[in-house]
Amino acid sequence: MEEIPIEAQREDNNDFLANPEVKKNYSLLQDIGVIEHIKSLNRDIRNYETLLTRGLDIFNRTTIDEIMDATVYQIYDQFVPVFIAFLWKPVQTKEDITIRAYKNCQPVDINLHVDNITPFEKFFRKYPLPINFELLAFQLSNDEALKPYLDIKTEIAVPILGPFGLYGIILIGNKNFDDGYNRDELYFLQQLMCFVSQAIKNLLHYEHSLRDVKTGLYNHGFFLTRLNEEILRTKRINYYSSIIVMDVDRFKNFNDTYGHLAGDRVLEHVAQVIKNGVREIDIPSRFGGEEFTVLLPDTDKHTVWNIAERLRLSIAGMKVPWDIPLPQVTISMGIYTFDGNAADINSIIRRADEALYISKERGRNRCTLWNPGVVDPHPDQGCSIEKLQIYTPIVEML
Ligand code: GH3
Ligand code: MG
Ligand code: MG
Repeated sequence: MEEIPIEAQREDNNDFLANPEVKKNYSLLQDIGVIEHIKSLNRDIRNYETLLTRGLDIFNRTTIDEIMDATVYQIYDQFVPVFIAFLWKPVQTKEDITIRAYKNCQPVDINLHVDNITPFEKFFRKYPLPINFELLAFQLSNDEALKPYLDIKTEIAVPILGPFGLYGIILIGNKNFDDGYNRDELYFLQQLMCFVSQAIKNLLHYEHSLRDVKTGLYNHGFFLTRLNEEILRTKRINYYSSIIVMDVDRFKNFNDTYGHLAGDRVLEHVAQVIKNGVREIDIPSRFGGEEFTVLLPDTDKHTVWNIAERLRLSIAGMKVPWDIPLPQVTISMGIYTFDGNAADINSIIRRADEALYISKERGRNRCTLWNPGVVDPHPDQGCSIEKLQIYTPIVEML
């Protein structure tokens, strides 16, 4: 009787090879290439399973940082390269490029000093595929801008494409334990990038639904949602949270004199100052028009006062480049700090609004903190918490 090769006897082989008829005719099937074909199909299945597992791990992430970390981890796990660097720049925002580099999956500083990915833009829009870096440099006529990438010994460049073009690139170094990347491996990376791109698209759609288009701050709807959540959380932990409402002073005059486009530019800068002046967990948002709000979780009135004053002074000192010199703009603010006893969202916003109204009434370019029970109006600007302007509405005293 014909001897059955050991691999045909293995239980984990698929049903076809385990079939007794197949075993009996194994030599024949091998001679005509069927066995090799089956093995190759099995390899493909395993590769697709790996791709699916790795891809889904990336796909299920909900922040760009998580997507970057998961992508790096999955590439590292598959190829064990010397380094991986993730360069990320969403095209529709004005934010700087983010570079995250990893060695052995640990974040490291990498000696790569570039501030954009534009040299690759045109090429990858036309050929959106992973490519050997030397070949890419050759295609781009060894553009000087590519030197920093060659200096860090990039072996492969993988484009990340989104709905509006090139969002980022992943640079991969050579493998620690193996030769270069073969065609199948580049194909694997290409397919993995489909998951990355899709995850990023989902993220952008989600972000877009929360953001104000003009300023990039959160929109009013998201602010209200987060404020409602914060009211409940503040009740649970019994601590303070605060809101600031802000309104640009005499902005109608500004628009009338310098035009709406200059006005828009000013609003973008105001938004940037607000965003940069608060913590990551705060919710700076555009209430609408020239009005902004910030929700500051876990923030008492001393702290919020200092933050509001800092923002006010930064805005008053802001320089906005324009065709002609623009005058300083100022902003008035109303602050309300609430604790676990806060009534409801409407009364919280109303009190902050009342405090804003007082700031306007008292001459603008100032902060007012709503505080029941104490009336200590102070005419100075930029005063300390001890001297701050405190307003008690008449209704509260009845
Ligand atoms: P106040 O100090 O009392 O707030 O005076 P104000 O002129 O700022 O107040 P008012 O409510 O009368 O006018 C607000 C102006 O803000 C009117 C509008 O021209 C301007 N504005 C609102 N949204 C935008 C915007 O998106 N872009 C520009 N350029 N202007 C805007
Ligand atoms: Mg207004
Ligand atoms: Mg105004």
